[in-house]
Amino acid sequence: MNPASEATPRVLILGGTGEARELARLLTEKQIRVITSLAGRVADPRLPVGEVRSGGFGGAEGLREWLVSNGIDAVIDATHPFAARITSNADAACRAAGTPLLRLLRPPWRPEPGDRWESVPDLDAAAALLGGADRRILLTTGRQDVARFAGVADAWFLIRVVDPPTGALPARHEILRSRGPYHLAAERELLAANDIDTLVTKNSGGEMTRPKLDAAHELGIRVIVVERPQEPAATPTVDDPVAAAAWVSELAQLGR
Ligand code: NAP
Repeated sequence: MNPASEATPRVLILGGTGEARELARLLTEKQIRVITSLAGRVADPRLPVGEVRSGGFGGAEGLREWLVSNGIDAVIDATHPFAARITSNADAACRAAGTPLLRLLRPPWRPEPGDRWESVPDLDAAAALLGGADRRILLTTGRQDVARFAGVADAWFLIRVVDPPTGALPARHEILRSRGPYHLAAERELLAANDIDTLVTKNSGGEMTRPKLDAAHELGIRVIVVERPQEPAATPTVDDPVAAAAWVSELAQLGR
């Protein structure tokens, strides 16, 4: 780590995920000084242990300045697989500042035999596959993306979100406010009780929101899966918090 910094390394975790919270816990246990950054969009976020800051940095250049002025020795980008802008900014800022960067990225979900999955590259492609007066859709792509489905005029949407969506909404919808983790029995009940025929999801991966896929599999429901945006090619990547914590320990031992 930076020789000018104090003996204990100071690590920035770009957060907003369960993996980021788990990593903050693991590093704190190792006596490593952690600051987790949140975008500040969720009204009542789940907070990690350790120091927390909230709000944007002002693009890649703002993040670079922040890293330098806060004496950050290493960055772990543990943001959601679909948070592409902050991931790209982290890549550019760390390269400019010469700060080691690791991407912590949970594995994507994969279809299993019998799944009725249709993979699409982005949200607009998902919206283009919807429509039809008798369609009943469970939309789980998140509050910020609901407006992309506003033009689907005739289908009915059950829109599941943590905080209420702010933009345009499809004409026929109901908002369901809830936050995971979810469980198979309740997901099965939700799909059946609302007579859902199509589930729309991002390929977020992870266990907390996976049960909707298992319930859709059991009930033979069509699933439209929005695949992930591309990651910066050069960033070293691990898929679990334990491996990310080991990377930090190794850097600290190397005295980087
Ligand atoms: P995004 O589109 O990649 O980022 C938009 C802007 O928000 C960034 O340019 C940055 O602003 C700010 N930002 C994002 N994450 C930040 C963080 N951890 N700390 C400080 N600033 C951050 O991100 P997003 O998709 O809106 O996601 C926002 C947050 O929600 C992320 O932390 C992500 O892990 C979490 N999340 C996202 C999703 C999803 O589906 N996208 C799902 C679950 C959780 P500046 O340019 O001003 O720095």
